[in-house]
Amino acid sequence: MSDKVNFGDELVSPEEKTRRVGAVFSSVARRYDLMNDLMSGGMHRLWKDRFVNRVKPRTGEAILDMAGGTGDVAFRIARRGAQVTVADINADMLAVGEQRADARGLDLTWKVENAEALTFADASFDAYTIVFGIRNVTDIPAALKEAHRVLKRGGRFYCMEFSSSDWPGFAKLYDNWADKLIPRIGKAVADDEESYRYLVESIRRFPRPSAFKAMVAQAGFVRANAEPMLGGLVTIHSGWKI
Ligand code: SAM
Repeated sequence: MSDKVNFGDELVSPEEKTRRVGAVFSSVARRYDLMNDLMSGGMHRLWKDRFVNRVKPRTGEAILDMAGGTGDVAFRIARRGAQVTVADINADMLAVGEQRADARGLDLTWKVENAEALTFADASFDAYTIVFGIRNVTDIPAALKEAHRVLKRGGRFYCMEFSSSDWPGFAKLYDNWADKLIPRIGKAVADDEESYRYLVESIRRFPRPSAFKAMVAQAGFVRANAEPMLGGLVTIHSGWKI
């Protein structure tokens, strides 16, 4: 790849983007869970519960939680009896997750992986989940193709991502919250305004739900669907491999 890509609002090389996204998550890893609560007013817990209800994990299923970070979604899936592999490009995020899993007595597999080029064999998993992760991936079509490859036939793809709200009034409220307050909370709590500014910018740059749905279909998934939640602030995308 040689074309420039967005790192937040800046244009950088693809390699530079991957490196800088790595630096952001290494920097926020220790405070990541606290910051999630502060930035979303605890809402991320409800979104994740609802997301896992959509995935409907079953006992014994092999589920890959990609960009799984500190394990928030993976823990919810593991509690339903599935065998969960948590994969993430960032070893610092996974290290925090492993500590949290130990504290909760949960048994999961943890693996450093780049979503764009997975080391798993074809048809390894019953479901693939990615929550608030794909917007950080440099080559999103490559990651979607890999998701399709590692799923078994009949396997489910589920992605939850922020989306820009179209609700009048709500969009303005959100913009104020995102532009002014999130970087300030980042500075106050984690002494890291820049990382949290990147997170806000990356949300704004992510394709609209209809465009992302088309990308999911393009990767080979059937019945690609985009389900908006909370006035469109968050969208659950899904698709099936046949
Ligand atoms: N899914 C977790 C959650 O919802 O709490 C973590 C989400 S966190 C906002 C985004 C995660 O994406 C980070 O842990 C980051 O390291 C990971 N990530 C970014 N680019 C990636 C890539 N190319 N491959 C795998 N993981 C990636």
